[in-house]
Amino acid sequence: MSLERKRINILGTKFDKITSSEAAAYIVRLLKEQKKASVFTPNPEVVMAAYRDKHIQGILNKAELVVADGIGIIIGSKIIRNPLPERVAGYDLFQKVFQQIASEPLTVFFFGAAEGVAEEARNKMIIKHPGLSIIGTHNGYFNKDEEVVNAINKVKPDLLLVGLGAPRQEEWISRNKDQLDVSVMIGCGGSFDGMSGKVKRAPEIFIKLNLEWFYRLISQPSRAKRMLQLPLFIIKIVLEGKRYGVHK
Ligand code: UDP
Repeated sequence: MSLERKRINILGTKFDKITSSEAAAYIVRLLKEQKKASVFTPNPEVVMAAYRDKHIQGILNKAELVVADGIGIIIGSKIIRNPLPERVAGYDLFQKVFQQIASEPLTVFFFGAAEGVAEEARNKMIIKHPGLSIIGTHNGYFNKDEEVVNAINKVKPDLLLVGLGAPRQEEWISRNKDQLDVSVMIGCGGSFDGMSGKVKRAPEIFIKLNLEWFYRLISQPSRAKRMLQLPLFIIKIVLEGKRYGVHK
C-alpha cells in the first residue's frame, strides 16, 4: 500500500491528514511489507525548530509519515482552515501498533532515554501486550552512532523506536537510516519515560480536555521555557499561515 497522501503545510512542515488508527494501520502495513520508512510526530516546538532550521525541516518532510502530536498543531491546522482530523499522540499510536503486532512475527527495539529506562519500558510493554517481541534496548547516552547501529543490526528488529528528544532523534534517524537493518523507524521523544512509568501521563480528564500540555507544565515546570514556543507558533500561523498557500 502506498498511502494516498493528503498533507497540509504548517509553517513549512508537512503533516499527513490521518487519524491515529489509520496511522497505526499504515505502520503495521509498512512493517509487514518490510518497507524502509521513517515516522515522526512533531509538536509545535519542533515545527518552530524546523521553521528556523531548514535542515530539520528537510528531514521531517522526507519522512514516509508525519503525524501531529500536540493540540497546538491541530489548532494551527484549524487557523489555516485545513483541519487535521485529530491529534495523534505518540504514546497512544505506539500502543495501537504494539497491540496489532503482538500476534505477528515482527520484532521491536527500544533505543533512547536514561540507563535502565528502555528496559523498564520493555518489561511494562511485554506485560501489557502479551506476545510482543522486544528483542533489544539501548540507552540514549552513547558516544558513537556506530556503536548503537551495530547493536541494532546484530538483532535486526523490524521496528525501531528512537527516543532521544526532538530534533536529536530525527537527525539520528536521518543520519543512520541507510546503515540500519530495520524496516520502520519512529522518533518517539520521551515515550520510554512514559511507558516505564518514570514520568506519569496526565490523568484522563486532562487528556480529554486537551490540557495534557498544561498538566506537563505544572508537573515539570522546567519545561516552561520550551512551552513558550506554543504562543509564538500560534502567532506565526496567524501572521504567516497564508504564505504557505494552505488557506481555502
Ligand atoms: N534523551 C536521550 N539522549 C540524550 C538526550 C535526551 O536519550 O542525549 C532522552 C531523555 O532521557 C528523554 C527523551 O530523550 O527520555 C526526551 O524527552 P522529552 O520529553 O524532552 O522529549 P520530547 O518528547 O519533548 O521530544
